[in-house]
Amino acid sequence: MRQDVDSEIVIAGGGPAGAALAMLLHRAGRRVTLVGRVRYYRAIEGIARRSLQALHSLGLHRAAACAVGPLPRRVIWGGEIRAPNAEWLLPRPAFDAALLEDLHEAGIPVIKARITFLESLKSDVRLGLADGRILTASWGVEARGRAGARRQFRDAAPWSTPAWILRGEAADSAPASAALSLPGGGWAWWSRLKGQQYLQLALTEASLCQARCDPDAWLAAQPDLTQLWGQAKIRHHYQRPSLLGRTRVREGRLWRLGDAAMAIDPLSGQGIFNALSSAHGLAPVLNSLFEETRIAPLERFHQRRQDAQYWRFARAGRDFYRQAAYQESIDTDPAPYWTARCHWPDHQPLHLPEPWARVQVGRGLAIIGTRLAERELVFTPDQPLGIQAVAGIPLAPLVKAMQEGDHDAVRALLVAAGPAAMAVARWWADHPDWPTLPEPALHSSGVTTPSPVDSASQ
Ligand SMILES: Cc1cc2nc3c(=O)[nH]c(=O)nc-3n(C[C@H](O)[C@H](O)[C@H](O)COP(=O)(O)OP(=O)(O)OC[C@H]3O[C@@H](n4cnc5c(N)ncnc54)[C@H](O)[C@@H]3O)c2cc1C
Repeated sequence: MRQDVDSEIVIAGGGPAGAALAMLLHRAGRRVTLVGRVRYYRAIEGIARRSLQALHSLGLHRAAACAVGPLPRRVIWGGEIRAPNAEWLLPRPAFDAALLEDLHEAGIPVIKARITFLESLKSDVRLGLADGRILTASWGVEARGRAGARRQFRDAAPWSTPAWILRGEAADSAPASAALSLPGGGWAWWSRLKGQQYLQLALTEASLCQARCDPDAWLAAQPDLTQLWGQAKIRHHYQRPSLLGRTRVREGRLWRLGDAAMAIDPLSGQGIFNALSSAHGLAPVLNSLFEETRIAPLERFHQRRQDAQYWRFARAGRDFYRQAAYQESIDTDPAPYWTARCHWPDHQPLHLPEPWARVQVGRGLAIIGTRLAERELVFTPDQPLGIQAVAGIPLAPLVKAMQEGDHDAVRALLVAAGPAAMAVARWWADHPDWPTLPEPALHSSGVTTPSPVDSASQ
């Protein structure tokens, strides 16, 4: 039962990645259809302010309204107690249902159904639905999360084990959350929302096996967790896949994004942010696809962007494991759980130094409006994909003028930047090895209040 959808692009999966992409493409005037079903497992996930802001800026207001917060993000890691920033709790699948409502409200065709297959043919893609219908479109997007990446992952962490989730009622109804490392290896994320509590655990395979045999006894033997969980009964416990890995971003006429392109360590708590960011990168690629004849540079752009994120999140996770190993090593031999995770993916620091001598200006693709366009970019060891603009101000002319020692040109550029000049100057000052920008330019631009840095465009 074949049915051509009146769409240029069909998106499989309506989680944050698929929904964000649908919204961005729709806003850019593309004809897009999204097919998905709401996730069935009742998870609670935590997001930071920037993800909430991103949901609002995408017009996903109903979805954003599901977030409960801000709550202090309590972290008890390697014996150190911190509350570094705030987080918001997202009850899924209410969040996922709201995403689909937001799309429908925006006028985007949404088909709520189970997808049975998605394949790329020579001149189109075919997507099969459980009721036997087959949809076709020019291009397809795989956004079915980890389920859509099964058997496709490469560079997977050798140690990932499924997450174990415990759910139960909570006597206290005040929303709260905490992340903690477990003595002897492993970590937990606990949250409480609307009279329910949710405990997500990352354990070794052996501990997981043992814990699953008698969850109540296992929990009772964990003093820190028992303190959070209280006396409530465990109502339900189950495993969630949490394999880490990345894939190729394109197969024929199919593109991948979100967890279907790269799944990161849940420890980072950045999966939803990454899904939204992934959509921001793929949307201009797809928009450009309808004008460009050469697909290779577009694919390279999306792949390199995804890969850079993947390695960055992997190194950030590794540093958390190192910290726990280090703290434990003060009193005893650190648990194998930590030591096994201290070396993957490599030993490269999370951020590379950016000496002025290694800052270069060159040409590359950047996101300009809704498309990709070639521009002059600034490349540093830490930003190998290049930076196009800071606070909306193109960076390459400024770097070139500084490299040439042309301070008059720098002053003119900063004056022309207006109020954004202060944000550029603050961003610049975060690079202590870089030569100081000529001060009078900032005064003569009349800027007194700092404006937020919107960072690099890539
Ligand atoms: C244990 C665990 C805890 C996590 N905790 C956090 C956290 O606290 N904070 C955070 O930011 N991230 C967290 N994440 C990561 C986060 O869940 C994902 O990174 C994020 O949801 C990815 O978005 P996505 O849109 O790519 O995929 P998903 O959110 O998985 O969306 C995929 C969509 O496709 C649909 N779909 C799948 N198969 C089909 C099919 N056959 N037919 C129709 N529809 C289908 C699904 O129902 C779903 O709606 C966690 C992940 C795990 C595993």
